[in-house]
Amino acid sequence: MSSETNNLTPGEQIKEILKELYPFKKKELINSFLMDIDNALMAEGKYLEITYESNINYFLRRLISTAQYIFRKYNPKSHPSDKYIQEIRKFLTNSTRIPERKVGKILVLLLECIRESKREPSDTLRKNLLQEADNQGKGCYICGSNLDFSSKNNENSAIIEHVWPRAMGGDSEPRNLRVSCKRCSEIKENYIDACDFHYEKICLVNHDKSKEAFSKEFNWVYRIAVVTKSRYRCIVCGKEPAYEGVMEFCRQEDDDSWHFLNIGLYCSKHSQE
Ligand SMILES: [Zn+2]
Ligand SMILES: [Zn+2]
Repeated sequence: MSSETNNLTPGEQIKEILKELYPFKKKELINSFLMDIDNALMAEGKYLEITYESNINYFLRRLISTAQYIFRKYNPKSHPSDKYIQEIRKFLTNSTRIPERKVGKILVLLLECIRESKREPSDTLRKNLLQEADNQGKGCYICGSNLDFSSKNNENSAIIEHVWPRAMGGDSEPRNLRVSCKRCSEIKENYIDACDFHYEKICLVNHDKSKEAFSKEFNWVYRIAVVTKSRYRCIVCGKEPAYEGVMEFCRQEDDDSWHFLNIGLYCSKHSQE
């Protein structure tokens, strides 16, 4: 395994394999309904890309959820210890058409996903990350709000968050851990990445009426979706909410409406422009 893939969580590695097996071939989409819709919306390929990513996520979710189900069904506590492994292999071979040459690798990664879903970051690592964030005065890496490091049960209590969710093959290595508020972590649930949220629902219509109507419609899960799409930073300069505090949501094209493809995260300087 190359050191490059080692930097990815097991879930991300399966996603990479799926993208390699089922690549995004824009040319082959000519005359497809997806291309027609992309054209009609003048999305310049962005709609095609998000649809593609979201379908790969669906595939990934199906694989991981099924592997987890088989693990529970043939739990090694009550079955021969490698029974579930055989059963997951059987599922990949008989119930999918994934090419045989990739089955072994995907199987190994699915077993890692099962292992990682039960592994918490160590107490020391957790403590160190929280201490470091507290010392640096960091805010939530998603919403930028001030964190409460002394309690565990408030909306803004600081907690250790898995960027790539544990339930979807995210490991507990430092590169996959950030400090977030409890609220963001709970609402983010096990969304894999930006293309995994219900992006099609994010079409805001009330923004002209009043600020209150807008913020009501632009609920927390939508915010997290847009922050995730913006890779947790200002899309112009790269400043991060963890250091900048609460940031602004703006349209990329002012004469276009408020929909997922057109909303981004901006720092205070770039939201003015
Ligand atoms: Zn937050
Ligand atoms: Zn900026």
